[in-house]
This record gives sequence, C-alpha cells and structure tokens, in this order.
Amino acid sequence: MSEPNQKIILTADRPTGRLHLGHYVGSLKRRVELQNSGEFDQINIMIADDQALTDNADNPGKIRDNIINVVLDYLSVGIDPTKSNICVQSTLPALHALTFYYMNLVTTARLARNPTVKAEIQLRGFEDEGLPVGFFAYPVSQTADITAFDATVVPVGEDQLPMIEQAREIVERFNRIYGETLVLPTALIPENDAQRRLPGVDGKAKMSKSLGNCIYLSDSAKTIKNQINRKMFTDPQHLRIEDPGHLEGNVVFTYLDAFCTDEHFAEFLPEYKNLDELKDHYTRGGLGDGTCKKFLYNVLNSTLEPIRQEREKWANDIDSVYDILKAGNEKAREITGNTLARVQKSMRIDYFADRSIVKEWETLLKNAEK
Ligand code: ATP
Ligand code: MG
Repeated sequence: MSEPNQKIILTADRPTGRLHLGHYVGSLKRRVELQNSGEFDQINIMIADDQALTDNADNPGKIRDNIINVVLDYLSVGIDPTKSNICVQSTLPALHALTFYYMNLVTTARLARNPTVKAEIQLRGFEDEGLPVGFFAYPVSQTADITAFDATVVPVGEDQLPMIEQAREIVERFNRIYGETLVLPTALIPENDAQRRLPGVDGKAKMSKSLGNCIYLSDSAKTIKNQINRKMFTDPQHLRIEDPGHLEGNVVFTYLDAFCTDEHFAEFLPEYKNLDELKDHYTRGGLGDGTCKKFLYNVLNSTLEPIRQEREKWANDIDSVYDILKAGNEKAREITGNTLARVQKSMRIDYFADRSIVKEWETLLKNAEK
C-alpha cells in the first residue's frame, strides 16, 4: 500500500469531446486548487478512453481525436504536469485486471440500481438497442481506476456520487474477503449547489457533452455571447423591466450563482456590491434581463479568456504535450502495476511473484499421498 496517511487524488474525464463549464466548476477548478495547495502527496489525472469506448465502441476515432482536446483543456486551466500526473487509461493494463477481479464482488442487481447509470442508459437509448456489458459495468472499472492509485480523495461533480459509493462498497468487500489491501476513497463535491451539477445552457438538468448543451472552455467570446443570448432563458413571466422577476429555474442566475464573485461586480457592474443585491433588484422589479445577461457574458468571458490564451500556447507545442503524457503514463504504469501486484498477492493469485508455490504444491501432493 502507499505510505499510511498519504493524501492521493485521482480524477478522470472521458475524451468524448472538449471539456466544458460543467467540468470546470464541478471538478477541474477544484483539482487546480488542490494541486496548488501543496497538501497532496500525489495527484493523478486520467483520460478515461476505455470508459469512453463503452458507449462509443463503433467510433474509436472520436476518442483518439479527443485525447488531445482534453489534455489541452487540462493544461490550459492550470493543471501543472510537474505537480499532477496526466495519464491515459488504456495504457494501464493493471486497470483491466482489477476491473475483472472486482466484477466478482458486485451483483448485476446492484449495478442496475445506480441512478446515474440508469439515467445514462435511458439517454443513450440502450433500453431499446441493447445495453453493452462494458457500459453497464463502467462503475466497476471506475473503482479499478480509483483504487489502482490508492486514491483517498476524488474531486467530482454530483453525478459521480453513486460511483464513489459503489467504489467504497467494492473496497470494503475486497478488504473483508482478502484482507486489508485497498484504500477507501472519499468524494469531494463542490459546496455550491450550482457548481455541483451545472445545468445546460438549455436549462436541462446537466451540462453534458452527450446532451449538446455546453459552453466549452475553448469557445470564442462570440460563441459565448450567442449561447447566452439565444439559448439561455430567464424568467418567462418577466415581460416588462418593471415586473418582479423570479430566480427559480432562471438559468442566467444559476450560472451567476456558479461563476460570479464580488470582484466581477466591482469590475463589470459596480452599481451592485454582490449577487444578493442584484437578485434583490431583479425580484423586486426594475432590472432587465439584458443587463443580467450582459453581466453573465462578462463574467464567463473574463473567466475563459486566460484559459483560451493558455490553450493556444500549448496547441502550438504538441510535441511537449506528447512528452508530458508519455512521462505521466510511465509513472501511472508503475503506480498501478504495484497495486495490481498487491491485489494479486492478497487474492493469492501471485503464482510467479516468487517460487514459494513450489513448496506449497509439493507439500500438498505429499499430504494427499498419505
Ligand atoms: P459524457 O456526456 O461523455 O458523459 P460529461 O459531460 O458527462 O460527458 P464526464 O467526462 O462524464 O463529462 O465528467 C467528468 C467530470 O466532470 C466528472 O467529475 C463529472 O462529475 C464532472 N461534470 C460533468 N458535467 C458536469 C456538470 N454539468 N456539473 C458539474 N460537474 C460535471
Ligand atoms: Mg458523464
């Protein structure tokens, strides 16, 4: 096992597209803060290409192409490869072996109860088309990812809570059967409601690549403006400026909840000190949706501007990005390989770790003769 009391992070993203604002507030921003806090002994960030293949088996090219997009997004938000290990899931064979062993520790009934997987099955039409076993079992493979790195902390959005719950159950079961071997992980989700599960620009429950309702971290200022002005609704009853407005289900205000700070007010809307004052005015009446949308545009664009610039820098140096990934993979192979060896030892399937089984077999056969 890793040294006792080590603090280790593992998080991952599926390379099914570029990363978006939901990833940013749900997980990425936190990862960068934790990385820079210096409190962690090891930070691992994984591109989950195997998991992405579970519902994209017929389109491996899409996954291959998006690996570079996700790495560029990581580097542009401030993931620092000297502090965080960036790696690719499919290059780590230990994860496949662990998944295979863990599958014996969970029932199909338990997997079928996972609310996130249930929703995703529905979204992908797998109920009618047939459900790939790999997709159904992806929470098990996620458990392999987390435990292979001995992760203590997994910073994720709210949709991932059932996965961490599942991982914890498998860890407990494994340790009960085979002896204390695996580290029990904890989920770290944002405190802010809007950040935990950022809705899509269309107001749907979750911004998600699969739903096509995203603002991507690399989107241009113009695209952001269009998304806000054309896709985001406010309060349908707020017809005239002087009418009182409602905040519930008002996407513009949900985004402000997730993104704006008092500094943004000082810079872009100094008539108000903070979001509470803006909300007060809106609900009282007399504040137009246009002003709120313009402010949101400034908040989002000023958040994304430095990210965009950083992305461009890295995009012009793909050779270095390749080297970063390659080095990250080598470290990750070593870490996950050590865990696999430990797991196989606990399960007593480490036949060729040394020759001790020769003696065991000899004794066994001798005793059988008697
Ligand atoms: P896909 O549609 O391919 O599943 P996705 O947009 O759901 O993609 P993932 O790669 O599944 O993104 O998620 C990566 C991480 O980002 C997870 O920790 C997840 O909780 C977080 N995340 C994704 N979308 C949101 C969101 N809208 N709000 C908060 N966190 C999110
Ligand atoms: Mg997802």
